[in-house]
Amino acid sequence: MKLLEERIKQDGIVLPGNVLKVDSFLNHQIDPELSQAMGEEFARLFKDAKIDRVLTVEASGIAIGVMTALELHVPLVFARKKKSALINEPVYTHRVFSYTKKEYSDILVLQKFLPAGERVLLIDDFLANGEAALGLAKLVEDAGSEVAGIGIAIEKAFQPGHQRLLDKGYRLEALASVASLANGQIRFTNDADKD
Ligand code: 5GP
Repeated sequence: MKLLEERIKQDGIVLPGNVLKVDSFLNHQIDPELSQAMGEEFARLFKDAKIDRVLTVEASGIAIGVMTALELHVPLVFARKKKSALINEPVYTHRVFSYTKKEYSDILVLQKFLPAGERVLLIDDFLANGEAALGLAKLVEDAGSEVAGIGIAIEKAFQPGHQRLLDKGYRLEALASVASLANGQIRFTNDADKD
């Protein structure tokens, strides 16, 4: 998605540990118009996938998830990373290792918000090792539903997550695919075509 790639080139900052910081439009401050455009693009890519529900994980997946769900006319559910006193009903839960925080958290969704027999679209902001996406997929499958696709705003294609998701047979669509962050330079997988 050209608009997203241009924004990443303009505002993205490469941090040590192969982390791309895009807090000016995706991870802290949110650009609503860009989020809407991303939601429209996900909805276009998955329009024939018979999606019943969109599932993401708090916090950064919510904006793009809601824009996708709005366009597909289905509900959005987000997995929580912390159990609160309000969560006193049965949950689906799975332990996930956070790429950026370097710690485990138990993501959870109330069972009533993941009914069985649905086709669920997973949406997230980044794909690195695939832990978050595989954790969300586990919740969906525990619920007796099917992962109809995985939509990622920015995948780091040089890290293992991309192949792990494909190996599991999931349909993966990334709006921007980063080939390398070496030497502080952001290169996209399709940059070679432009050279
Ligand atoms: P994974 O679970 O695939 O290893 O990593 C994906 C999750 O880690 C995303 O939900 C995102 O929150 C975070 N993440 C991974 N890599 C990056 C990155 O380069 N930049 C940012 N901002 N978040 C990342």
